[in-house]
Amino acid sequence: MTEKLYDRDSHLKEFTARVLSCANEGDRWAVALDRTAFFTEGGGQAADTGSLNSARVLDVQEVSGEILHYTDSPLKEGETVTGLLDWEQRFRRMQNHSGEHLLSGLVYARYGYRNVGFHLGDGDVTVDFDGELDRTQLEELETAVNRAISENVPVTCWYPPKEELNTLDYRSKLELTENVRLVKFEGYDLCACCAPHVSRTGEIGSMHILDHMRHRGGVRLHMLCGLDAMEDARARYLATATISGLLSVPQLETPKAVKRVLSELEDLKQALAESRRQIIQMKADAVTATEGNLCFFERDMDMLSLRELVNAGMAKCGGICAAFTGSDGDWKYIIGSRSMDLRSMAKEINTAIGGRGGGRPEMIQGSSTASRRQIEAYFCK
Ligand SMILES: [Zn+2]
Repeated sequence: MTEKLYDRDSHLKEFTARVLSCANEGDRWAVALDRTAFFTEGGGQAADTGSLNSARVLDVQEVSGEILHYTDSPLKEGETVTGLLDWEQRFRRMQNHSGEHLLSGLVYARYGYRNVGFHLGDGDVTVDFDGELDRTQLEELETAVNRAISENVPVTCWYPPKEELNTLDYRSKLELTENVRLVKFEGYDLCACCAPHVSRTGEIGSMHILDHMRHRGGVRLHMLCGLDAMEDARARYLATATISGLLSVPQLETPKAVKRVLSELEDLKQALAESRRQIIQMKADAVTATEGNLCFFERDMDMLSLRELVNAGMAKCGGICAAFTGSDGDWKYIIGSRSMDLRSMAKEINTAIGGRGGGRPEMIQGSSTASRRQIEAYFCK
């Protein structure tokens, strides 16, 4: 049985231990120690990483009651090794995990909602509650958690004896009555949890709720604490500062300014569409009406405008109205007619102009690899 050193001291970064066994498992080794400060994966928190002498600890898992450190190189059975945790990562996880307990404790005390999902990823922490919380309630909770952090109350972890456990009311109550580890945030929360926590709430630094959404009849929150929260706030500040600079407005006025810019863009799009319609009508008006075919060549026109041009042109000709956009060898076309069945003519037209495409009897669409001269020779023969 490996002694869990973090039970007594969650801030232990370095320790010595004796290697009980080391078994090869493919490209890694499973190492059991007589004691360890490495936290095994559990309770929503990932396993610690670090090193044992020169071997990297890639993962730590509890397998059939035994704590196994998976390393990238072997260690000698019986030797004494120095274990070193990737402390920065572990400390950030403790900040986030302890912050989550404070929040869940307050949610339970105020609303009776239970924490039904917890994921502690690096840079992203999600918590699910089985009841809905609106923005105002979440803001009040966020303030209350940060107040509890600033009060710097003690956090204690212990394994109460069965008799004591039976008298306690705590969250995440388990069926077990032995080896239940309780984590207490003085005056705020009592919960069963196996993970290492901060010693006082002040270490959490701060807690930020970043986002919330409805989730399975309750709510899912994205939150961050401490150094992760600070880095996230910095990134958000930079994003807002950039928008503020681009729009030349104070940072807090960026939402209003972006709305204004989008509205102006919408007005411009409509004005542009109206101008295009006028240009197309002018182009159609400029050609002489004919009983034969009509051809338009445009250097750069979108397909919607090209279609409008064909529609306007069809009113001026008795035969086919063909509109091309692009350049020699690379045309896109729309061809329309009020008098002919273009679908049945599509094959002949495509053969003549090196094209591909098809459509309805009154309008076909496609591409052509011919030159303007070849196209004109075919339609104006
Ligand atoms: Zn926990």
